[in-house]
Amino acid sequence: MSFVLVRSALDQLVQVLEQDGYDVYGPVVVDSAIRYQLVHGIDELAIGVRDVQGPGHYSLVERSDDAMFGYTVGVASLKDLFFPPRRAVWSSVREGGTLRFEPAERPEPKIAVIGARACELAALAIHDTVLLGGEYKDADYLRRRTDSFIVSVDCTEPGEVCFCGSMGTGPAATTHFDLAMTELLVDGEWEYVGRFGSERGERILERVTHRHPDQIEISLVRSAVSGASDAMGRELSTVGLPEFLASHREHPAWADIAQRCLACGNCTQACPTCFCVSTLDTASLDGSRASRELRWDSCFSLDFSFMGGRPHRSTIDARYRQWLTHKLSGWVEQFGTSGCVGCGRCITWCPVGIDFTAEIPKMMERVDA
Ligand code: SF4
Ligand code: SF4
Repeated sequence: MSFVLVRSALDQLVQVLEQDGYDVYGPVVVDSAIRYQLVHGIDELAIGVRDVQGPGHYSLVERSDDAMFGYTVGVASLKDLFFPPRRAVWSSVREGGTLRFEPAERPEPKIAVIGARACELAALAIHDTVLLGGEYKDADYLRRRTDSFIVSVDCTEPGEVCFCGSMGTGPAATTHFDLAMTELLVDGEWEYVGRFGSERGERILERVTHRHPDQIEISLVRSAVSGASDAMGRELSTVGLPEFLASHREHPAWADIAQRCLACGNCTQACPTCFCVSTLDTASLDGSRASRELRWDSCFSLDFSFMGGRPHRSTIDARYRQWLTHKLSGWVEQFGTSGCVGCGRCITWCPVGIDFTAEIPKMMERVDA
């Protein structure tokens, strides 16, 4: 542990980041849910609220204290900031007998985030691999990630649907942060006991009032984080899981789940690692203008697998199986990690509460039986 900030110093941190040209995003209550929003001070953050999450359920309730990061994860993840749901690609104008194409404006935002969770940083690491690690890089994602500044806050009160402990991604951040902190209430005062993740983090903190932690604060952080690991709401055994899913493509459970699944795609939209997109072309009625944009898509949509004149995943069980087996099995082969970071969003935001941490053990039991 390297530093301690008091709450007012967090405001200083926001100001220093703004002075350096950053757009600072933090967790804010919007429409009864927590989302990352542009902020200019810490009094805009989601203070004194806690989220209650369960299969198909999300609500916010008041806390008995004024913790600033006393919730688990918000409805949207860092994906919204670095890989936004809609991106313009080009537009065209018909002039006389010719068509003029123009590339879309390429924003170069300088993004800073305060309050990112460990699971979200694990998802960011996955997106860095998928979107930047291959021969063809996502130029827009690269622009947003370049110079981004991440302040992580460890989870000390995991929720009912969290299982980052099983996936090795939390509750404390280990990667992809510039500063990481744990929020503690010590003698009635909020403290943020932190560690550095980059030289840039050290340079920024030189301009913020801080002090070194003492042994008591260090041990309080350790017990808060280990308490969070013990209190994890769910678990998923990943030993042999990729092989199990790959070898049970005809398991009857896929059809059982499909009886409940609405193929709405909420799980893929909420998931911080899903990255499928499609292109949408639109044209004005008189044909004088047209444009193309990239939009998030979902393997649950019928059109997503349209090839050779028909969708080749025409049933919901085929689409659910595609999502889950790619996420937990094919992804490992393709990118070297699981595609799941255990944030639980797909469980919370599934309108019918499908929970694969419960479905997979049932599948395995049926095979054993
Ligand atoms: S699959 Fe579900 S639990 Fe796993 S990262 Fe995606 S939303 Fe989170
Ligand atoms: S699993 Fe749930 S969230 Fe995902 S497509 Fe089916 S009904 Fe929608």
